[in-house]
Amino acid sequence: MQTQFSSNASPHDWALRARRLFELSDDQAFVDVERHITLDLSLQLVRVPLPGLAGLLVLKRAPFDGTVFVQSEDPLERQRFTLAHELKHLLVDVPNGLVREDDGVLFHSDASETIGAGLWSTVSNIETSADQFASEFLLAQQPFTEMLDGKPMGVGLLGEVAKAFGVSVTATATRWAMCSEGRCALLEIREGRLYRFVVSPGLEATPKRSRWLQVKAAISDRTRSAAWLRGELDFNLGAPTRIPAKEWLQGAAAGQELCEEVLHVPLGDRLYALIWFPEDFD
Ligand SMILES: [Zn+2]
Repeated sequence: MQTQFSSNASPHDWALRARRLFELSDDQAFVDVERHITLDLSLQLVRVPLPGLAGLLVLKRAPFDGTVFVQSEDPLERQRFTLAHELKHLLVDVPNGLVREDDGVLFHSDASETIGAGLWSTVSNIETSADQFASEFLLAQQPFTEMLDGKPMGVGLLGEVAKAFGVSVTATATRWAMCSEGRCALLEIREGRLYRFVVSPGLEATPKRSRWLQVKAAISDRTRSAAWLRGELDFNLGAPTRIPAKEWLQGAAAGQELCEEVLHVPLGDRLYALIWFPEDFD
């Protein structure tokens, strides 16, 4: 097994290999990651309150045994993402000697704040690649694309897909922005400013002046997200709204429009905007 997961491969490759290892078909949506860790890899799984942490690996070196601890206070779908993140450490980083060892015990902890953050990062390290692995392992391209295909894009659809895969809406929206051919982005807003974003390969490929998004810049008052922050949108946020593209993307052509929908996650009080060019998602 160890030779299958070279540390030089990509998260995409590792996710494909892991799915083969556990005999998951290419079109299988829901992945029982807990079962693969406990039954196929014979590790113990313990759910406990872990202050400040999402997950913790404690392994005896050989044979390959030990315990995966997961934050019991996290929602189940978040625990599943954490488990998939730990699975990458188990399959790739442990066999390749990238996990710290103290007195014959391998030890790796993951802070709550960092799990999932790697999906937004361009930095490459064992944590960001573990998040990217988790995203691709839990949300396989083929069933993911099929579930979105031909349906009206929006938070409602992403919520249905999230349920089918057993992951959070945020993880689903991030995967959507990371793999869409169409021009789209997921933006996180904190205190009225753009905090971070993920843009699709399609949007990345547009000329720079028309996709300009600046971290820390105050968002335009005319965006749907600004209206939400002013309390002008009720609980039922409703359908995606068309707004001039230049409200988000400086330098966008006059008359060009994009769709915006607000995604508010009560856990941690997180605010996201999804933006996309509707003609790319018809
Ligand atoms: Zn980690």
